[in-house]
Amino acid sequence: MAVAKRIDGKAKAAELAESITRDTAALLDEYGIKPGLAVIIIGEDPASQVYVRNKKRTAEACGFNSVQHTLAEDVSQADVLQLIDELNNDGAIHGILVQLPLPDHLDEQSITQAVAPSKDVDGFHFVNIGKLTAGHTADAFVPCTPAGCMLMIEDELGRDLSGKNAVIIGRSNIVGKPMAALLLQVNATVTITHSRTKDLPKVVAGADIIIAAVGRPNMVKADWVKPGAVIIDVGINRVEKIIDGEMKMGLTGDVDFDDVSTVAGAVTPVPGGVGPMTITMLMANTLRSARLAAGLEG
Ligand code: NAD
Repeated sequence: MAVAKRIDGKAKAAELAESITRDTAALLDEYGIKPGLAVIIIGEDPASQVYVRNKKRTAEACGFNSVQHTLAEDVSQADVLQLIDELNNDGAIHGILVQLPLPDHLDEQSITQAVAPSKDVDGFHFVNIGKLTAGHTADAFVPCTPAGCMLMIEDELGRDLSGKNAVIIGRSNIVGKPMAALLLQVNATVTITHSRTKDLPKVVAGADIIIAAVGRPNMVKADWVKPGAVIIDVGINRVEKIIDGEMKMGLTGDVDFDDVSTVAGAVTPVPGGVGPMTITMLMANTLRSARLAAGLEG
């Protein structure tokens, strides 16, 4: 029985982080510039706290100036917008990130759109989305998760995906849609599927590349998969699973890893696949923002 390659996102992310750390030290050495990343977290959502902690730790390890603004759950929209405005005008800050989801009383769209496009290292501003869609990625910020997925796909299949069929499961603004734009840019034939897609397994069966970004544990099975396909599992689901011989809460993806591994060519695990790459791409975007601001790129 064939066994797919396990794509080690953790190792790749660590390698990338090393090169970001080296480039950050050189930027400070040669130009006296230290990349600054400001993270705004609102409320007490436990998953968000973990993500923000990881981002801060990675930013510090890369040698960045890492600033965290923790705002109360009931903060007003005006106060959030004022903080973003201050950060937009702070020369020491090159990247601004507002951790999602936001409490219900806040308007997510006007908050994400208040971040200056030149500091929008999450790639959520309409200016950056427009540039990505138009194929102008030279000075755009690409959302971190799809950007990380692309690097892993490139490792498996190269930079030109002419003739390859890519099927994306999920059409979110954060993952599915930008993923489609990136795949199109390197000549893949792209299908975006979603909850209203008819006969999803049949559509997925034609894919040389599968990107699963749904949020349903172990949804993609071996009998959906074309032999040799490359599978990128973006999903993060909290489930009970056996860890060290005991039932505990743990993370699993949208892909049944063991099952698809009997058919696929390469698969990302969860955890240890897309997640670590996402954080590292945030650092890559922040370093790039600092270099762009200094006129060293673009
Ligand atoms: P979302 O909820 O915004 O979108 C989910 C998408 O899945 C929707 O487009 C929906 O149409 C589709 N969908 C739902 N049920 C479906 C079904 N039965 N068949 C086909 N499609 C279906 O989610 P998102 O923000 O894109 O995140 C998706 C998953 O990826 C979540 O588990 C999330 O936690 C994870 N995620 C991981 C990272 C990372 O860094 N690894 C980053 C972002 C999101």
